[in-house]
Amino acid sequence: MSRFALVILAAVCVATPVLAAAPGSFAIQHVRVFDGVRTIPEANVLVRGGRIFSVGSGSIPQGVPTVDGAGKTLIPGLIDSHVHVFPGAQEDALRFGVTTELDMFDLARDFAKWRPQRESFAKTDAADTWGAGLGVTVKGGAPLEMLPPTDAAKIPVLANAVGAKSFVDARVKEGSDYIKLFIEDLSEYGGKKRMPTLSRDEVCATIAAAHADKRLAIVHVQTESGAREATECGADALAHTFPDRIATRDFLALAKSHRIFLETTLDVWAAASGLDIARKLAADPRVAPYLSPFQKQTLTAKEDKPHPQFFPTALANVRAMHKAGIPIVAGTDAPNSGTAHGVSPHEELQLLVRAGFTPEDALNAATALPTKIFELGDRGHIAPGYRADLVLVKGDPTRRIGDTLSIVRIWKNGYAIGRSPPKKH
Ligand SMILES: [Zn+2]
Repeated sequence: MSRFALVILAAVCVATPVLAAAPGSFAIQHVRVFDGVRTIPEANVLVRGGRIFSVGSGSIPQGVPTVDGAGKTLIPGLIDSHVHVFPGAQEDALRFGVTTELDMFDLARDFAKWRPQRESFAKTDAADTWGAGLGVTVKGGAPLEMLPPTDAAKIPVLANAVGAKSFVDARVKEGSDYIKLFIEDLSEYGGKKRMPTLSRDEVCATIAAAHADKRLAIVHVQTESGAREATECGADALAHTFPDRIATRDFLALAKSHRIFLETTLDVWAAASGLDIARKLAADPRVAPYLSPFQKQTLTAKEDKPHPQFFPTALANVRAMHKAGIPIVAGTDAPNSGTAHGVSPHEELQLLVRAGFTPEDALNAATALPTKIFELGDRGHIAPGYRADLVLVKGDPTRRIGDTLSIVRIWKNGYAIGRSPPKKH
C-alpha cells in the first residue's frame, strides 16, 4: 500500500464530528457534492490543514468558519490533461477552478519549481503542474514548424530508432513525468503527407524506452492511421481525438484491446472548424471579468482557413470511443487558437456531454479519472485525506454541465483564492 493510501485511511479512522476547531479549518455546509465519481445529494465538508477531513452528515465543530452550500455544488478542482504552459498560464488556470495541469510539451520544463509546488500545501495563486518536457520528433517534424527557428534548433530530434533510448533517458533525467511523441505528417489536411514524421520503428522504440523508464507514452496523432500505429506500438494515450475520418470498428476494437486512453481536445477541433463556441464563452458574464488579456486573445482567435468537417468528425469519434469503453480524459491543448488555460476545460466538459457523456462522466474525466491514470496522488476527489482543491458553483453541474462556470469560490490547498485577472501577460 502506498504512503498516500495510508494517509487517507488514517484520516478516515479519526474523522469524528467532535473534532475541535483547528487553525485553518473551515466547512462547507449543506452542499451537494460531486466527489470525483458520484454525487452525494447533501453533505457537510470539513477541511483542515489543506486536506479534506470529513464528508458527511456530521455536525461542524464549534468555532469553525462555515460557507453555506445550499443550492450549490462542490466539485474537485478540475484537471486539464493537455496543456502547454508559459509564464502566467497556471495562474490563469487557477482563476477558473483548474487546480492541476498536465503539460504535453514545453521548452521551459520548469520541473525544479513544479515538483515541490505540487507536494506543498502552501498558499499559491497557481495550478500544480505535471509535464512531458520536450517531445520526441524528427528533423523538420511537428511541432518544430510552429516554433521560432531559434527555439526549434534547441530541440533534439531522432535520426533513427537506436536513438530513442538515450532521448527518453535524457527526458527522465530532466524530470519528465511522461514521454510525448509526435506522429504528424499533416495528412489530415488533405490525404497527402506534407511533413516528415517519426517512422514506425522510431515510434515503437520510443514507447518501449518510455516503458523501460516506467513512464507513460503519450502520442500526438491527428489521423486514424497515426492512432493505429501508436496503438499497435503500445502507446498509453492518444493526445488528441483524430478528425480526419470516422473511427472504424476495427480501430475501436484495437484501441479497446490495447487499453489505450484518449485526451480529447474537442475545443481545438471546434475552433479549427470555425465554430464560435469559444468566442461566446469569452463574452459570458461568468467568464469575461476574470480573463487576462492573453486568455481573451487566444480564446477569441479566429481560424484563417476553417475545416468545418473536423469538429463533427472528432465529436463522433469521442462518442464512439466512449461507447466502446475506452477511457477518456478531458484535455484542451490550451493555449492554441480558440482555447485558453482555465476557461477551456469548462467548454471541454460541455463538449463531452454533447458527445454523449452524462454530466457526471464528463466531470469524472476532469477529476478522478486523470488522477488514477496519471497517478496524481491526493487530488481529483472529495474524500477524507485528499488535498482541499475545491470549486463551489451555483446550481447543479451533475445535471447541467454549464453550471461549472457559475463559480462562487475556489480553494487551492485549502486556501480561498482571488480571481482578479492580471492587466497584462
Ligand atoms: Zn498539445
